[in-house]
Amino acid sequence: MSLLERIKGELNKITVLRSLKFRMFLIIMTVGLICCLVMRFGIIQSYFNRAVEVRTGDVQNQIKILADHLITYNYLQDPTSEVVNAELNMLSNLYDGRVLIINNSFKVIKDTYNVSQGKTIISEEVIRCFKGESISNYDDNNNYIEMTVPITITLNDTPQVIGVILTSVSADSIMTNQEILDRQAILIAIVLLIIVFAVAVAIPRVAMQPFDKVTNAINQVKAGFTDEKIVAEDYTELEHIVDAFNQLLARMKVLDDSRQEFVSNVSHELKTPLTSVKVLADSLNTQENVPVELYKEFMSDIVDEIDRENKIINDLLSLVKLDKAAADLNIESVDINKLMESIFKRLMPLAKEQGIDLIFESQRPVTAEVDEVKLSLAITNLIENGIKYNKKDGWVKVILDADHQFFTFEVSDSGIGISEEEQKHIFERFYRVDKSHSREIGGTGLGLAITRSTILMHRGSIKVTSVLEEGTTFTVKLPLSYIQ
Ligand code: ADP
Repeated sequence: MSLLERIKGELNKITVLRSLKFRMFLIIMTVGLICCLVMRFGIIQSYFNRAVEVRTGDVQNQIKILADHLITYNYLQDPTSEVVNAELNMLSNLYDGRVLIINNSFKVIKDTYNVSQGKTIISEEVIRCFKGESISNYDDNNNYIEMTVPITITLNDTPQVIGVILTSVSADSIMTNQEILDRQAILIAIVLLIIVFAVAVAIPRVAMQPFDKVTNAINQVKAGFTDEKIVAEDYTELEHIVDAFNQLLARMKVLDDSRQEFVSNVSHELKTPLTSVKVLADSLNTQENVPVELYKEFMSDIVDEIDRENKIINDLLSLVKLDKAAADLNIESVDINKLMESIFKRLMPLAKEQGIDLIFESQRPVTAEVDEVKLSLAITNLIENGIKYNKKDGWVKVILDADHQFFTFEVSDSGIGISEEEQKHIFERFYRVDKSHSREIGGTGLGLAITRSTILMHRGSIKVTSVLEEGTTFTVKLPLSYIQ
């Protein structure tokens, strides 16, 4: 396991982190925080850029006017003009800055700070400016806006740069405004964050309410207070979950009903032979001087009833075993022809006793992966039924066939047949078409249920066709290789 997965695993153990409410809260808070930060820094920065731009534009205009005056008063040749000097001082006071006038020999002829007068300045900006370019940039170390503007005259229609005005203007006032704005932005951000926090707490609560409602409803069902369908119409996703739950509930109800019906059937079936035994024993007990013959007859009836009880219990046990997982199947490669022959051998005495002909027809040798014991019981049930529900001098015929994937066997008889309505029910547990007749011949109503379960566990199918008074055919189809 990687470190990341381990950390994820540890975090998952902290239940609050897995809560959807908490995650929604986190998302809203994060988005809110990002918005506040963007607002604060984004707006402040764009205010600052805009303010510098406006200030640069203002100063540049003033300097252009000044440049015109410098030409008018021929200041570059004679820097004594009172008017221009006054204008220069006013400009440097107004913008809290410094103005330098440089002539075409790169010499400073005027510095409002009176520091660089007479000096020569050959900076990159000045050279570029002599080529006609106006340059401005913001020096964020010293908080100054620096500008270089050419003084241009037009001679014979060609502009000619005769000097340069170099200005640096303080951006302190912009900085101060920015600080005031920043304080206000922090205040607004705090208020906004408080609002976002309230929203982040409230929204998940409201959004999760339908889930809480559904959980409560499920708890009510779990506690057994109600088995009503749960309704949730708030979200489509929740509706899907609730639909699935309702279907599960309905299925469980069906299962519960069938379990109850099965239990009541079982108790009834088990009680019947016991009641007979009690009646027989009581009548023997209450009679004085019972003749030995009657005594023997009753005792043999009692033994029959006990045998019946035993058969029901055995059939029930087979069914319960089949209800367990398919993993219980003991799959092996079985020679189906041989299996059929051994079943026929076992059932031959019963068939003879009833005067029924048993016929086995095999189209080809068949070997398949099956649970021999369980399949043998299923086939026996079908053939036994054919013998039991037959007519005098009747027959039961089994035809075995196979293709490359499946093998089939048909068990047909010349018996009493089953009506179409009854055919729908014969595979149900304890279902018997004619209860008293079936009882008489020792049926429990479980044989076909056992057969069907076995076939289904082998991933096969069973079908019945029948005509009343003519006979019945059960067709079974099973895969040659066991499908997990
Ligand atoms: P049972 O132990 O009563 O034979 P089954 O589950 O084997 O129980 O069969 C259910 C019912 O289906 C039987 O009671 C019988 O009425 C009917 N049945 C089954 N097989 C046949 C058949 N071959 N011919 C006519 N009826 C049949």
